[in-house]
Amino acid sequence: MEHVRVPMISLRGVGKSYGAHQVLFDFDLDVMPGEVISLIGPSGSGKTTALRCMNFLETYQQGEVRIRGALLGYDIAADGRRTPASERSIAEVRAPLAMVFQQFNLWPHLRVVDNVTLALTVAQQVPQEKARQRAMAALERVGMAAKAQAYPQQLSGGQQQRVGIARALAVHPQAMLLDEPTSALDPELVDEVLSVILSLARDGMTMVMVTHEMGFAARVSDRVVFMEAGRVVETGVPAELFRAPRTERLQAFLRTWTQRNGATRLDLPATAAEAHA
Ligand code: ADP
Ligand code: MG
Repeated sequence: MEHVRVPMISLRGVGKSYGAHQVLFDFDLDVMPGEVISLIGPSGSGKTTALRCMNFLETYQQGEVRIRGALLGYDIAADGRRTPASERSIAEVRAPLAMVFQQFNLWPHLRVVDNVTLALTVAQQVPQEKARQRAMAALERVGMAAKAQAYPQQLSGGQQQRVGIARALAVHPQAMLLDEPTSALDPELVDEVLSVILSLARDGMTMVMVTHEMGFAARVSDRVVFMEAGRVVETGVPAELFRAPRTERLQAFLRTWTQRNGATRLDLPATAAEAHA
């Protein structure tokens, strides 16, 4: 029998509204194991919403989100109608995923190691001692073990985000969702966070990342998804999408980005294979 690869994350026709205001339309995406996907697009285009629908931090109304084949957020009844899934079932289906937030979302009153440990003792009921070991291993992975006893406000933004990444890694996720992980940082602190993300990508971590760092997206991604007004406008490998955008809308978006960032061109690898080399 032919081996069928099941997507880590699959969205089919996903639509989402806030009240009467529809912000996501007919969103399709398959994220295969080991793939790195970047979501780009103007502010308000629905990138965060799409990402948050992938782990049901936001409810979607149309279509399907599946994690390793399992429907997320709904149960299908015998008559084919769907009903909201239980919290427990949602937690089970999304267990392979971990999220990294733009604003880090660390607890200010907890030391670094306790911030990371808490993700395991509360969400996964890992025993305290074991959770602490895993927390320290994750902090080691992002170069933050030496700051385990510090409080978040004693750290730079870049260090805090590395702790945020460690907290996600500690749950041993099969895929990570990152929402503009560097956009809250001073420019000189961006690189330390991007290099952690790049090293996870090279280790084979499956990732979906919302980002405004076009050069980085070009370097790290297998595929890039350009969104506008709640819809996917273009999807492609970075070399094609950035070098030869097909739509006027993506051309305009990249032109604006290049002007704002003072770059004369995007420094692009030829292929995704090269990018991961
Ligand atoms: P992006 O991440 O691309 O900037 P978002 O996904 O945050 O875009 O937002 C997409 C649209 O949804 C925007 O019009 C935004 O105003 C709207 N939106 C986002 N969050 C909410 C919310 N909690 N309630 C109502 N509207 C929202
Ligand atoms: Mg956003």
